[in-house]
Amino acid sequence: MTNPTELSLTELRDALKKKEVTSLEATDAYLARIEKAGDLNAFITVTADKAREMAKASDEKLGRGEGGALEGVPLGIKDLFCTEETLTTAGSHILDGFEPKYESTVTSNLWRDGAVMLGKLNMDEFAMGSSNETSFYGPVVNPWRAEGSDAKLTPGGSSGGSSASVAARLCAGATATDTGGSIRQPASLTATVGVKPTYGRVSRWGVVAFASSLDQAGPLARDVRDAAVMLKSMAGHDPKDSTSVDRPVPDYEAALGGSLKGLKVGVPKEYRIDGMPAEIEQLWQSGVDWMKDAGCEIVDISLPLTKYALPVYYIVAPAEASSNLARYDGVKYGHRAKDYDDILSMYENTRAEGFGDEVKRRILVGTYVLSAGYYDAYYLRAQKVRKRIFDEFVEAFSKVDLILTPSAPSAAFELGAKMNDPVQMYLNDVFTVTANLAGLPGASVPAGLDKDGLPLGLQLLAKPFDEETMFKGMHALEQAAGFDVTPEEWWA
Ligand code: GLN
Repeated sequence: MTNPTELSLTELRDALKKKEVTSLEATDAYLARIEKAGDLNAFITVTADKAREMAKASDEKLGRGEGGALEGVPLGIKDLFCTEETLTTAGSHILDGFEPKYESTVTSNLWRDGAVMLGKLNMDEFAMGSSNETSFYGPVVNPWRAEGSDAKLTPGGSSGGSSASVAARLCAGATATDTGGSIRQPASLTATVGVKPTYGRVSRWGVVAFASSLDQAGPLARDVRDAAVMLKSMAGHDPKDSTSVDRPVPDYEAALGGSLKGLKVGVPKEYRIDGMPAEIEQLWQSGVDWMKDAGCEIVDISLPLTKYALPVYYIVAPAEASSNLARYDGVKYGHRAKDYDDILSMYENTRAEGFGDEVKRRILVGTYVLSAGYYDAYYLRAQKVRKRIFDEFVEAFSKVDLILTPSAPSAAFELGAKMNDPVQMYLNDVFTVTANLAGLPGASVPAGLDKDGLPLGLQLLAKPFDEETMFKGMHALEQAAGFDVTPEEWWA
């Protein structure tokens, strides 16, 4: 039997059902790999005992010929998902020692379907960042390196622990979240598949809130089929999240391989930005050719408001974050400052000590744009532009079924390269924030390597709740790209 960690999630699922391998064997194999991969810093907490316990329970079910869609499959969980009695940090010092009394809906759904939890994955603090460098637990290192270099690169962010652990085969798949690109940009930088579903497709209940009108959870996986199977388990209506939508969850795996004949794919000219490496432009063109070869009709489209998406996002997201993060005050959970005179200084000192610089920047910006006198000029105006961005997509999607763009404006960059320039860091999200502002599903699929041997991804956007067509398109891109390179294991 091959090493179970070399199997994709769906291959492992099938091998477990056929009893070619046990969940305990797979779990132990993953735990051994995690132990050797300390240099990547992908995990904040490894739940080895819990993993083995869950694996044994799965093996019993599998032994009786029972079990769910993910029975016995070991997963990593982004540390933004509350897991009962298990440390949940959101990558922040302010949640020190926080062990939730409840389980997020997404993780409950995964455990219901038989998945095994290997541990909690590193991430940017409160999911704010594009490089995983704002984490209180230190940066995650990308398993990919440029050819002939041992410089440490970012795995993207904020779901950097998720992308790195999937790319390094430290888990069969991982959960992630995307507020402005945090599933798709890390996927692009690590040659993994990342799916941000339609807003409302996946419950946000029990996911630590960043910007509630933009946040959406989804899978980071090795291939398109794995992502389809994970999303099926994660998605679904949840009365505990009032923005979760009551629609049946389709069998996304069944959509794969279907014909693309007659599908219209839009190519928006505004996603051709200044300073974008020529290789990304070329790869985008290859993507267009691949979709054409698969039977799609290519349509040039225009989304002129694209240039406002990033400024709008960096008003709306901090505004919501400043409100959501008001609850971390040293009273209800997590860290409390030791030195204080009264309750006010306790709040102040706790928040000063507990939050990192990027989170503080967002709280300051968010509070400013919501304050009397500036609300109309910033927040309200941003909301109006957001609505027009949405309208522009509705118009575009009256002509096309999918939109194809690059996922990120660059390949993985060196740790430290952009940390002193927030605007440079924010520019990473230029192709991804639009889908969050409009609530659309979006995905990144590995498409090729740049001249330094670093991965690049292509993004597909689809109509609300049409993840099936998106998966079909992703599968076609995956087939055409034939991308099967894995990073050299320098860390083990
Ligand atoms: N990089 C973006 C930000 O810092 C998006 C983060 C995310 O999607 N969680 O806000």
